[in-house]
Amino acid sequence: MNYYSTNRQAPEVNFKEAAIYGQPPDKGLYFPKSIPPLSKKLLDNITQYSHAAIAYEVMKPYTGNEIDDAALKKIVEETIDFPIPLVPVTENIFSLELFHGPTLAFKDVGARFMSRCLGYFSKDIHKKIVVLVATSGDTGGAVAHGFYNVSNVEVVILYPSGKVSSVQEKQLTTLGKNIHALEVNGSFDDCQQMVKQAFSEAGLYKNIFLTSANSINVARWLPQQFYYFFAYKEFFKNGFNRPPVFTVPSGNFGNICAGMLAQASGLPVKHFIAACNANDVVPEFLQTSAYKPKKAVATISNAMDVGNPSNFVRILEIFSNNIPALKNKLSAVSITDKETRQTIKTVYEKNGYLLDPHGAVAYASLEKYLLSHQNETGIILETAHPVKFYDVVEPVIEASIPLPVSVEEQVRKEKKAVWIENEYEELEAFLLKLE
Ligand SMILES: *Cc1c(COP(=O)(O)O)cnc(C)c1O
Repeated sequence: MNYYSTNRQAPEVNFKEAAIYGQPPDKGLYFPKSIPPLSKKLLDNITQYSHAAIAYEVMKPYTGNEIDDAALKKIVEETIDFPIPLVPVTENIFSLELFHGPTLAFKDVGARFMSRCLGYFSKDIHKKIVVLVATSGDTGGAVAHGFYNVSNVEVVILYPSGKVSSVQEKQLTTLGKNIHALEVNGSFDDCQQMVKQAFSEAGLYKNIFLTSANSINVARWLPQQFYYFFAYKEFFKNGFNRPPVFTVPSGNFGNICAGMLAQASGLPVKHFIAACNANDVVPEFLQTSAYKPKKAVATISNAMDVGNPSNFVRILEIFSNNIPALKNKLSAVSITDKETRQTIKTVYEKNGYLLDPHGAVAYASLEKYLLSHQNETGIILETAHPVKFYDVVEPVIEASIPLPVSVEEQVRKEKKAVWIENEYEELEAFLLKLE
């Protein structure tokens, strides 16, 4: 499979190059040259496939000859070696729980897949690969755990001191080995600025190859299709034989875009709902057909606080910019923090199910949709464990959430981070030591 840039000013590349470079030089996004149709055998017999077998079938056309079969099988097996259950909440609402991975959020799957691909490709790059990433919280943990122990790859994570939650900090700083945490005396923007400068001066580093673990990387984006296939499989096992409505908490729109790609390749889906918080660029676009990026506003579902969703161009690409066709398949809803809190409370009290703020935005969006589509059945993607956002959730339900055992172990481990000032030279000195 070849990939072209959505800006169409850069050369086509194969999967390996797209995964290693991350972003095309013209600052577009890589997009598959064709959308491979799904095998009828897979769709007709999906309940008989294991999750790993489904994942293999889905990724194979996208990785092509760049990864051999045995290696791809191993990569997908390791990527999804934790449960992804579909849990009924009401008669016609299910929750696909994507938070059973090591950092309790759905980004684990993409990060684990990408890290293993880079590890596989590293044998052809005669330099040490250094993944450099700035994090405001969740991405860093997923990347750290995804790349932990991957040979020939070092990971350097910059995080703003005092500005990530204590659980998030432990997820970044307790692994050791090939994972290096730099605690920056500055803000997230400062961290990001330093990372940008390192990339612009990458030529200075002779023996290391710098790359990012950005969420626009095809190796993080494409495996998110798995969720929709797994959900579809479990949905059928539950006796439902009509395609579901998927509701996806959306920020950068990578996750929902992967679902729409799966649909374009043949997965039966009734409809997609992009569930947004107050950051409503896409809901507004679908109403007015004018795409107006905004400055992000802070909400309690903070992983979705994005004012200019980078993956939205990929959704337009799937539909060849045909907006009426897109509107036929996609709705978008904006939910306030007040509605989010109310939804967490009501669903907890009425249905005995605890949502995190991101899942609650999805749940509230789906409920609105079902008011006028009463015969449909919906699946929300529950993207994070509620304990990750206990400071929001606990006061709403007036109860405490027990820490899962895996998190308790993480929290008990000793933090190891290198303190640096907000000066590029300090990052540079650290990188040179890795050479
Ligand atoms: C990243 C994230 C999202 C948003 O996903 P996108 O693919 O950026 O739309 C939603 N929920 C949680 C918990 C996240 O970490």
